[in-house]
Amino acid sequence: MPELPEVETIRRQLEPRLVGRRITGVEVYDPLLTAPTASEEFADELTGQLITCVDRRGKYLLVGLESGATLALHLRMTGRLHWRAGSPAPGEERFLRAVLVCDDGSTVTFADVRRFGRAWVMPAAVSQREFWAQRLGVDALSDAFTARGLAESLRGRRVAVKTAVLNQRLLAGVGNIYADEALFAARVHPLRPAGSLTTDECRVLRGAIRARLEVAIAAGGASIDTYRDALGQRGRMQDLLQVHLHEGDPCPRCGAIIVKSVVGQRGTYWCPRCQPDTTGSAVAVARRRPRSSRPAGVI
Ligand SMILES: [Zn+2]
Repeated sequence: MPELPEVETIRRQLEPRLVGRRITGVEVYDPLLTAPTASEEFADELTGQLITCVDRRGKYLLVGLESGATLALHLRMTGRLHWRAGSPAPGEERFLRAVLVCDDGSTVTFADVRRFGRAWVMPAAVSQREFWAQRLGVDALSDAFTARGLAESLRGRRVAVKTAVLNQRLLAGVGNIYADEALFAARVHPLRPAGSLTTDECRVLRGAIRARLEVAIAAGGASIDTYRDALGQRGRMQDLLQVHLHEGDPCPRCGAIIVKSVVGQRGTYWCPRCQPDTTGSAVAVARRRPRSSRPAGVI
């Protein structure tokens, strides 16, 4: 699933290619992409508009228009944006859901195997700042993401720190891959209650999150399954992962065997030696099974 580094890679590629271009046509092949807005209405709102900026909030890509409206896109599981200098050849793009055409003949296609991705136009009257402030925490790549802010957002929380880091309302942009990688880099057990982290651990974790995201952006993102960048290229970050997807492999730091567990329904990887449970509280979280998995009648 594309996370912050993948969406940021796409943003950086699209920005110089789209800003200053005028949208001359939009074709939507899958009404679910723009639902509940009708495809025709979505296309009408975009056609004729000049693109003024390409921004990102968390995992959302935001294309600014001269009218003040914003085209918002979320790739979800398998969404893929591909820029081309011309039109894609017939049949070149499988699972095609929409095409945006610019005044220089360039195109951006939105393809999506699983069809969870979404696109919608936010009216000019909607304050971007207020809209996102109500839905997303601080962006993990912004200057506003500080150690103090992280400590405040984790304080008092009893959920596993991995789960807290994945909560987009607390911290926007970090998903399953980079949560595992950052917790390993920070030597924090993923099942520690979030509120048990010390101020110093929060400082280290904040630095680790930022560092791993920056490495991933420099590597063009991680192509673990379907992700490709906006030019159709695979990222390189999948080859640089230290623990994520490495169950049974030796830890790159200490040689202990990397283990995997399921935390909040997400596969979670860590090194039992580098990331010890220093508080003794993580085990209780690890052993607690979700209610739905308990046999009927068992409390
Ligand atoms: Zn280790």
